[in-house]
Amino acid sequence: MQDDLSTDLSILESHLDGMLGRIHDNSVTLRRFQLFEKKLLSLNSLSEMVEMVLTDAREFFDLDVISFCLIDEKQELAGYLAEDGYKVSSHPGLVFLQDKELLRTTFGFAMQPFLGAYKSAKCGGFFPNRDKRIASVAIIPLTRRGKYLGSLNLGSLDPSRFVDGMATDFVEHMAAVVSMCLENHLNFEILRRTSLMDTLTGVNNRRFLEQRLGEEIDRSQRSAEPLTCFFLDIDFFKKVNDEYGHQIGDQVLALVARTVREQLRNNDVLARYGGEEFVALLSNINDAIAVDIAERIRSRIKTLEIDCGEEKLHITISIGVATYVPSDAEAHDTKQIAETLVRSADDALYQAKHSGRDHVISSGRLTGGSHPASKAI
Ligand code: GH3
Ligand code: MG
Ligand code: MG
Repeated sequence: MQDDLSTDLSILESHLDGMLGRIHDNSVTLRRFQLFEKKLLSLNSLSEMVEMVLTDAREFFDLDVISFCLIDEKQELAGYLAEDGYKVSSHPGLVFLQDKELLRTTFGFAMQPFLGAYKSAKCGGFFPNRDKRIASVAIIPLTRRGKYLGSLNLGSLDPSRFVDGMATDFVEHMAAVVSMCLENHLNFEILRRTSLMDTLTGVNNRRFLEQRLGEEIDRSQRSAEPLTCFFLDIDFFKKVNDEYGHQIGDQVLALVARTVREQLRNNDVLARYGGEEFVALLSNINDAIAVDIAERIRSRIKTLEIDCGEEKLHITISIGVATYVPSDAEAHDTKQIAETLVRSADDALYQAKHSGRDHVISSGRLTGGSHPASKAI
């Protein structure tokens, strides 16, 4: 009797130990999830989030492999990340999907995670450069408002780490938080860009120019490199609207913007300043080269042919050029230098208009607050 009771007691104790062990394991997992969530919610950008998911999450959850798929129908996410200094090519775990097909076929309408043994046909698309030893996977859809955003893909060398029928509460909860953060960052990126873009021409708007101008002047002073400003204005544009209509006028604006953009370097700034006026900022060139580039733009615009039914429309552009050359001796008033630079380019443009249009005129070198008389080319 005594023996039976002792046996029962030790069985109960070992059950209790097991339960306490599981409670401990669960609370460790829960704590990890909480830390992961807290960090995820504190991130400021899409690039930080991608970095965290691919690097920190792997350590947080003690995974052998992790990959992150993002739906990128317009193929713009790599560009957004690159602008933030994130090198997409050095992160093979980041996968861009041009459509939702892979996710639809994997998750179906239920949008439920897939847990189980790794099978090439089903899982290959989620694990580029797959480690041949991956034995089990959890592929978790990232969705918001019934729409796929991507998937989070966890891989383990242990075949029993992810198995079919396993409770998925934790991973589903994590996917919900990742999805919410991802949607926020994507919306923010789109908003940031659209609020600084001119929708008609696809180049930046004046707001963007005003932000960048100060940054470019500061950079020019730090690096002791010149900064050139072009003020470009389509000649007799009102006539284009009057004779061919606003729709053709709009097409001309978009074509001019595209043509000017093509003649500039990637890191030069081009913004629509207003109406039919554009401003460009070009770094580290002297005034003579600046004038050559402006001349190239002017003659390129002159060769454009715009189809207007039976007629071919030709246009010309006038360009004012000014180049700021930083000097150690001057006081560094960024705002004043920015105003002087744009005003000098605008004054040069005014002279180009008065020289008969289809002209480039340069203000020459500016330093500090100087505002020299313009030079005809
Ligand atoms: P100038 O050679 O002196 O620059 O003459 P201009 O006719 O180009 O200049 P003006 O300032 O007289 O006219 C600019 C015209 O640009 C008037 C305006 O209707 C037109 N415009 C401004 N914004 C837009 C736009 O978004 N679309 C179209 N189609 N026209 C626009
Ligand atoms: Mg104008
Ligand atoms: Mg004009």
